[in-house]
Amino acid sequence: MAMAIPMPSRQLFIDGEWKEPLQRKRIPIINPATEEILGDIPAATAEDVELAVDAARRAFSRNKGRDWASASGAYRAKYLRAIAAKITEKKSELAKLEALDCGKPLDEAAWDLDDVAGCFEYYAGLAEDLDKKQKAPVSLPMETFKCHVLKEPLGVIGLITPWNYPLLMATWKVAPALAAGCTAILKPSELASVTCLELAEICKEVGLPAGVLNILTGFGVEAGAPLAAHPHVDKIAFTGSSLTGSKIMASAAQMVKPVSLELGGKSPLVVFEDVDLDKAAEWTLFGCFWTNGQICSATSRLLVHESIAAVFLEKLVNWSRSIKISDPLEEGCRLGPVVSEGQYEKINKFIQTAKSEGATVLCGGNRPQHLKKGFFIEPTIITDVDTSMQIWREEVFGPVLCVKTFSNEDEAIELANDTHYGLGAAVISNDLERCERVSKAFRAGIVWVNCSQPCFSQAPWGGIKRSGFGRELGEWGLENYLSVKQVTQYI
Ligand code: NAD
Repeated sequence: MAMAIPMPSRQLFIDGEWKEPLQRKRIPIINPATEEILGDIPAATAEDVELAVDAARRAFSRNKGRDWASASGAYRAKYLRAIAAKITEKKSELAKLEALDCGKPLDEAAWDLDDVAGCFEYYAGLAEDLDKKQKAPVSLPMETFKCHVLKEPLGVIGLITPWNYPLLMATWKVAPALAAGCTAILKPSELASVTCLELAEICKEVGLPAGVLNILTGFGVEAGAPLAAHPHVDKIAFTGSSLTGSKIMASAAQMVKPVSLELGGKSPLVVFEDVDLDKAAEWTLFGCFWTNGQICSATSRLLVHESIAAVFLEKLVNWSRSIKISDPLEEGCRLGPVVSEGQYEKINKFIQTAKSEGATVLCGGNRPQHLKKGFFIEPTIITDVDTSMQIWREEVFGPVLCVKTFSNEDEAIELANDTHYGLGAAVISNDLERCERVSKAFRAGIVWVNCSQPCFSQAPWGGIKRSGFGRELGEWGLENYLSVKQVTQYI
């Protein structure tokens, strides 16, 4: 097994400095593969949020010299590129920390870090472009007036993120917010904050101006809620569960504060009868078991044409049984533990409830026999599922694939769209016209054709229905943090 590295001991990152939380509380870091305590992280409370918001507000609008908001995009881009370079330099160390902190296989953690660096680089480019796009003229129907548009940073932003892609989910918000000229307070998940605190160290190393990015670790209720409710925070960008998202929306509504919400999902994958079975099986397993199924967009509802269902399922079951489940630091690991004991119990309960409701567990459903400790769950495939069952309707956020068959395209679309969620949806077929029809018919923010889960910094990401609203990534991600001002002049 690869050697673990010591967890750095960090404080809160406020106004460019490490600061002990005012109440001196700490949260243990538990390795989900061994259940050992590896160290701890600081737990911020409302008083620390107050300090961080003040620091971000000052950095946003110092009004003398070059504050972050009024500096050029090119100036901000230099810092984003420097952060990207540091992430790349520290990639192997950060990947190990993330694997230890949240149970992600080491290879996957390293790929995520490539995406983190790529995302900072990408938004550095968009920051530079923003300078060129200022003062875009608007054509008016009267010659006595002329008008142009300014795109301005929205202000101080609260960024609240989950644990499944700890640094990547933070980056999807930090990079565009800073590129737009906003200053920010990041509140990562209490279950996996270690690499976000390393991002703070990187900000220090590259000399990011004090207060531009503040990082507060801590619990949702103690640190996240006061941030969401703070009157001097101009927007909340949130990624997490639909339940927490609705609480944040309610809190922000008191001050008519804008929010963007990236929430949960229960995404379908439709496999037609004309597919290459091997390729379709690879995407099906990847789409549901990647990152241990702890992906918001996991295609966890498989709809397979009835004529190929038996042979396809046999393949899925055989391949699932051969997936290497181990400590995430072990070479070749494909499936690590789920993030915490709480998640482990929640997923097991989902499986037990499905069985009690009459579903059949085709494979998995248990702790792997060779692993006595850690929050490990075998890749699980469940059939004989009714659309009213909890396992079909609710997000499990674990390695659990539910399967139903269909007999024609209309039925497949109806089953796919029969959900409160609308994040991702995927279709696999050799008939590209059919794929196009089905893509249009899906009620979802992201559609994959002949694949599942690929994600690029350049393309918009987000959902509809209870999966949230607003788009991250691409130019849409930058717009999240900009306000549009019209300037109209009488001539
Ligand atoms: P969660 O909602 O429990 O927590 C998310 C964040 O919110 C954490 O930082 C938490 O501390 C904070 N929080 C909790 N209660 C809060 C409150 N009352 N006020 C303010 N902040 C609060 O979600 P999680 O378990 O960390 O993450 C898993 C969820 O995230 C899944 O539902 C998943 O689908 C979703 N997710 C969505 C996307 C997407 O792009 N749509 C991406 C990743 C994860």
